[in-house]
Amino acid sequence: MWLIRTDILTAFQNEEIKSSIPRYISVVKNQKPALFLIASRFPIDHPSDKEDLWSLHDELMNDFWEFVDTFDSMDLPPKPPYSLLDLKTDIAKRILTSCELCERRCLVNRTNGELGVCRVAEKPRVSTFFIHMGEEAPISPSGTIFFSSCNFRCVFCQNWDISQNPKSGRLVDSLELANMFVTLRKEGARNINLVGGEPTPNIPTILEALRLTDVNVPIIWNSNMYLTPESMKLLIGLVDLWLPDFKYWDEEHALSLSGIPNYTKVVRRNLKMAYDARGEMVVRHLVLPNHIECCTKPILRWISDNLPRALVNIMAQYRPEYKALRYPEISRRPNAAEMKEAYREAEKLGLRWRSVS
Ligand code: SF4
Repeated sequence: MWLIRTDILTAFQNEEIKSSIPRYISVVKNQKPALFLIASRFPIDHPSDKEDLWSLHDELMNDFWEFVDTFDSMDLPPKPPYSLLDLKTDIAKRILTSCELCERRCLVNRTNGELGVCRVAEKPRVSTFFIHMGEEAPISPSGTIFFSSCNFRCVFCQNWDISQNPKSGRLVDSLELANMFVTLRKEGARNINLVGGEPTPNIPTILEALRLTDVNVPIIWNSNMYLTPESMKLLIGLVDLWLPDFKYWDEEHALSLSGIPNYTKVVRRNLKMAYDARGEMVVRHLVLPNHIECCTKPILRWISDNLPRALVNIMAQYRPEYKALRYPEISRRPNAAEMKEAYREAEKLGLRWRSVS
C-alpha cells in the first residue's frame, strides 16, 4: 500500500502548478490525448528513399501544432498507414548507424555493436521500473523507468551503480518497453518518467515503443539535456513534460565534475528549444556546496529571463556520494545559509519554485 503525500493529492489544485503545466494535467486526467498519441494520428505520405527526411519533418512540424489544437477531448481518429511518429522513429533509427543522439557525437555504428561514450548498445538495458512516490508533487505517483548507463561522468552521481555500469539491468526491446508503459499507467502512474542513467541514448527504442503504445499517458523526459538539436527536434511533439537537470553555470565546473564540455551552452540551447515549442517543464537545480555564486544564482537568473513559466525545483538533497569526497569543495552537504541564499534569490526573481521544491 502507498503512503500518500497530501501535497500529491492537492497538487493539481495549486494555482502555480495549474498555470505552469496545464496540458500535462489534462493528459494525466485523460481529458486530452498525450502528444505521442496525436503524432501517431498525424497522417503523412510514406517518404521515398530519396527524400530528405529532415526537411520533410521540419515542414510537417508547423502543421502538427495546428493538428494538436484540434484535440480538446479524447476522440482520436484511427491510426493512418504512416504518421509523424513513424517518421520520427525512422529518423531516430538512422541516427543509430552513426550515433549523434547526444553532443558527444561519437559517430559510432551502434547497429554493428560499436559503442560510444555512453556504452549503450543498439537496445537499451533497463535497470528497474516502478511507481515512484518521491518525485515532485504533480509528478508522483510516477511510472519511472531507469535506463542503465549515461553519457555523463558526474563524480557525485547518486545513481552511479546504474549510470556507470553499462551491464546493469537487462536488455529490453520496444515491445517490452511498451508493456512497461501500459502496466505502469494501469497501476496508477500519472505519467511515464524516462530517466537513468540517461534516456537519450535510447531514443530510437523509446520512439518505437511509443508506436506500440495505445494507452493515454503523458511522457516525461527526465534528462541531463545534453542532446543534439536533432534529438531535440525528434522529441518535441512527443514529450508532454520536460524534467531537465540544470547543474552548472560555469563550464569549467561541468568539465571537472561531470567530464562534459560545452555543458551550459548546450543545456541552455535545448531548454529554450523545448520551452519555445510549447514545452511545459519542471527545471531541477541541485544546489551544490560552494557553488551558489558561480552556478546557482546565474542559473536562476537565466531561468527567470528565459523560461518564466517553468516550475523550478531548487533541490537541497545533495550529499557527497560516489567519488565526491575526493573533491573538497563538494565533500559536504549544502548548509542552511547556502539554501537560504538560493531560495532568497528565487523569490527575488519571482520564480515559480515554492510548489515543487
Ligand atoms: S548517445 Fe552514446 S554513442 Fe551516441 S553520441 Fe551520445 S554518448 Fe555517443
